[in-house]
Amino acid sequence: MQIFRRTTFSYKEENLASIWNPAEDILKEAIAQYGLSNFYGASYFCPECGKHMIKTVFPTDLAIITVEGIVGIPRIFSCPKCKTFHAPTPGYKLSANNGYYLKLHNDEFAEAIRTFDKYGSTEGRKNTIWFY
Ligand SMILES: [Zn+2]
Repeated sequence: MQIFRRTTFSYKEENLASIWNPAEDILKEAIAQYGLSNFYGASYFCPECGKHMIKTVFPTDLAIITVEGIVGIPRIFSCPKCKTFHAPTPGYKLSANNGYYLKLHNDEFAEAIRTFDKYGSTEGRKNTIWFY
């Protein structure tokens, strides 16, 4: 079971709308490496490496285990380079800096991002699903 920690990072979001997707190369690499289909480029930068992160939105809240107990999250951000996940606290933006953080190693990261990708879709939000 993967336990998310409280984040200690200060997140920065790109200020200006861009005519090109700045996460495109990172996204393409992640799609090729992990076979993703439900991740998109995010406007947030990874607080560790400074690259753009990618994200997916869950039609149904995803239940994660955190140091503070179970939290149902509507979206998650990832840095494929740092192999991390960043989840805002429900009802807050990531830049509120009060969300959750998880860093994994190669195989664990691959399994986790594929799980998040599997549940990220465009269908209507209904129940809660579980990520272990
Ligand atoms: Zn990073």
